[in-house]
Amino acid sequence: MSAAMASAKASAPAAAQALLDLSGVGYSYAGGKQAVAGLSLQLGAGIVGLLGPNGAGKSTLMRMLATLTRPTQGRILWKGRDIAQDPEALRHELGYLPQEFGIYPAQTAREFLCYLAAVKGLPHAAIGARVDECIEMVGLAAGRDRPIGSFSGGMRQRVGIAQALLNDPALLIVDEPTVGLDPGERQRFRNLLTDLAGKRLVLLSTHIVSDVEAIATALVVMQRGQLRFSGSPEALLRAAIGKVWDWTVPERALEAARASYRVCNALRRADGIQLRIVSEQAPHPDAVPALPGLEEAYMVALAHEV
Ligand code: ADP
Repeated sequence: MSAAMASAKASAPAAAQALLDLSGVGYSYAGGKQAVAGLSLQLGAGIVGLLGPNGAGKSTLMRMLATLTRPTQGRILWKGRDIAQDPEALRHELGYLPQEFGIYPAQTAREFLCYLAAVKGLPHAAIGARVDECIEMVGLAAGRDRPIGSFSGGMRQRVGIAQALLNDPALLIVDEPTVGLDPGERQRFRNLLTDLAGKRLVLLSTHIVSDVEAIATALVVMQRGQLRFSGSPEALLRAAIGKVWDWTVPERALEAARASYRVCNALRRADGIQLRIVSEQAPHPDAVPALPGLEEAYMVALAHEV
């Protein structure tokens, strides 16, 4: 980790009243593959964006947090209690939307949610009202009596969130929820998560920065099982200052620049091609420091390893 990144990390505000407290959490698959390596961090209420490229270990971490698998190293505390010793304490307060979410296409949204509410052990007399409440919360009232098989991807994800909300969870975990959604649906889904956050801890994993850009109160960046950053979006941006550059090159120099540097963006202009480059040093004397955006700051957090 670079000095700037380390100091940004140190200055990131400690999560007020950590709900989740991870120390040295690791997971190795049976074949010996270490998917998560010694993660230590604390998370409080708010929307936490868990960012990382494919294979970073996000799903493995989320499965541990959802008590579906146990860490092979370290420990996870939920409100001070070890979830490996006492998984039920967390399960009562957990809502989980996994990547693969099975539905019954012929069932209506309401039938499906009533069925899941029964499976989850909600008191029988309370099921109807709670299902209607959750349908309302996710904005599905108009579709509640239609078969889920007829829903768009965005509506299906709303059903997925509704089932995760049935027990009014204090911890809501959603794993790559925007895969397959169109841009409008993704925007609506982000708004929905913001509305739901309140006092909850919403943990949202994604490899797409724009999914969390406007909504996350904290960010965790993982790569190859390792923690690259944990703190506020502002701290991630600060850590990238001085490492993002604007450099306008003639068109013929584009390929060479791409081969030598991490080019985040290339914009064709009248005087050449304006490149945004992530680099510890100026790529060229003509390059000028640029104010980083979150996508670029994320690339900086990953860059020291690439
Ligand atoms: P992400 O969700 O960030 O894409 P994953 O947690 O799915 O990452 O995977 C992390 C690493 O663990 C990857 O290298 C992946 O290949 C490996 N992995 C995931 N599931 C298994 C499994 N069932 N058996 C062995 N290795 C796995």
